Amino acid sequence: GITVLGSYNVDLMSRSPHLPAPGETVLGGPFQLGPGGKGCNQATAAARLGCAVRFMTKVGNDSFRELAEKTFRSENFPIEYLLISDKGQTGCALIVVDQEGENSIVVAPGANMDYLQEDMDAIEASVAGSSLLLLQLEISMEANKKAIEVAQAYDIPVLLNPAPYRDFDKSLLKHVTYLTPNETEAESMTGINLRIESDFLEAAKVLYEMGASHVMITLGKKGCYLYSGGQAGELLPGFQVKAVDTAGAGDCFNGAFAAAILAGKSVSEAALQGNAAAALSVTKVGTAPSMPNSTELQAFLEV
Ligand code: ADP
Repeated sequence: GITVLGSYNVDLMSRSPHLPAPGETVLGGPFQLGPGGKGCNQATAAARLGCAVRFMTKVGNDSFRELAEKTFRSENFPIEYLLISDKGQTGCALIVVDQEGENSIVVAPGANMDYLQEDMDAIEASVAGSSLLLLQLEISMEANKKAIEVAQAYDIPVLLNPAPYRDFDKSLLKHVTYLTPNETEAESMTGINLRIESDFLEAAKVLYEMGASHVMITLGKKGCYLYSGGQAGELLPGFQVKAVDTAGAGDCFNGAFAAAILAGKSVSEAALQGNAAAALSVTKVGTAPSMPNSTELQAFLEV
């Protein structure tokens, strides 16, 4: 199976006629509450595609803890990898979406940043028994570093989704097998503006030189660009669908890609599965709830 070490956030969302200006209060539409956070979304995507997932995350000992436990039960994540912080609150994302689908989000990371020394042993125990480690940048960097260290010691491949982007120790990329930035993240990491295919190659080469063995830049509806060294990369076109909510598309891509790698597929086959699952996910509203299962994915690929 895989270990997904990452964030759990409760998404608190309301639709609004427009995004509130400073000092303004807007009467919005119905309120929605549900599981989210990049770690949870990616773990859910992988699990629904048949992958055995240890989702390791940390929440507060508050009323949202129960919601996390419910997600663990419904997605079959082993409960022993749910860490509880005595002090910190469960992470929350406060989301406002306007009529055009534009959003404003504040994430209060809470317990996601509260990894202690004793949690490092739990990370070691989980990662050491896995065949792939999947990480993002939405939790304590100390926790991510520890996980990468263990993966390296046990020769376990690492998939890093550098999102949401923040500055980090780039020497870690030497231990990253698969790196999956989206366009903005690739631009932040390389300083290269991504417009045409030659820009994708140039940026992917820079990231490859930094140490990642395979670079996949996700390109929204355009699909993804795969580079694994050499003269050229490969543009894998996206699947054409009617998009209703693209939030969580990148998370779905990462979870589905990881599940395919674990099932023994090649990198480009896995990227194709990532594109297909993510395309399906944008046809539904929500992040974790919009992740497709194997039956839905197979039906989609057979059409
Ligand atoms: P993020 O959600 O992190 O911004 P992207 O926008 O690059 O990431 O989307 C990730 C993946 O989701 C893409 O590589 C593509 O496979 C798929 N995807 C995103 N938007 C669409 C869309 N409108 N139509 C089809 N596939 C999409």
